[in-house]
Amino acid sequence: MWLNIDGVNILIDPGPGSLVRIFERGFDTRDIDVIVVSHRHLDHCADLNSVVESASESKKNPKDMLVCPSDVVEGEDPILLKYLRKALREYKYIGENVEIPYKNIKILGTVKHIHQGAETYGIEFHSKNKKVIYVPCGRFYEGMLEGYSENADLMVFNTTFPVKTEGYYHLSAQDVEVMLHRYKPKKAVITHFSIAMLKADPEKIAARLSRKTGLPVIAAYDGMRIDF
Ligand SMILES: [Zn+2]
Ligand SMILES: [Zn+2]
Repeated sequence: MWLNIDGVNILIDPGPGSLVRIFERGFDTRDIDVIVVSHRHLDHCADLNSVVESASESKKNPKDMLVCPSDVVEGEDPILLKYLRKALREYKYIGENVEIPYKNIKILGTVKHIHQGAETYGIEFHSKNKKVIYVPCGRFYEGMLEGYSENADLMVFNTTFPVKTEGYYHLSAQDVEVMLHRYKPKKAVITHFSIAMLKADPEKIAARLSRKTGLPVIAAYDGMRIDF
């Protein structure tokens, strides 16, 4: 996801295909200011190294910042290759109640999510006039009903299943409905679909969420552009 908020370009979760998609859509990696990785699973960061290499022009022009849980960069099995560490000027590790100022915006870590084998937190982007929330993967628990901002301009949910599915550490549309009632964003997007979700038709699921909550809910598709 490429987020432009108050003139700052943020690439969020560069999963498989991210590098190619960026150029296909007429964007340029060199315009990226900040890269955000929600967690170390490959569907969220498989292209991190390729994007960093490209954006920094092979480390000649380091990018400003990578925001991620520490296990993306450190520990025994980091996602970011060590030879690319100099391709970024600053590393900011996200956590609960962590505030990261960058130019005219703030990046905030909110609620800890429970997600198999990976550390991950809710992430908010605040500018003077806008609030965008990214709700990463994780299984629903009561703690997720506190800590996020209400009435955000845009709230993006990693919504893997149409209905609650035991044994998986992912959100369902039913969980998202509860969160929508609680946080009432001005616009919501569901994304990160499983096969079960695709079979159920994400557009129908989004339409049902809209009806039930009275909020505009949109099902994401590749290449979708959205104003907020
Ligand atoms: Zn994951
Ligand atoms: Zn995922």
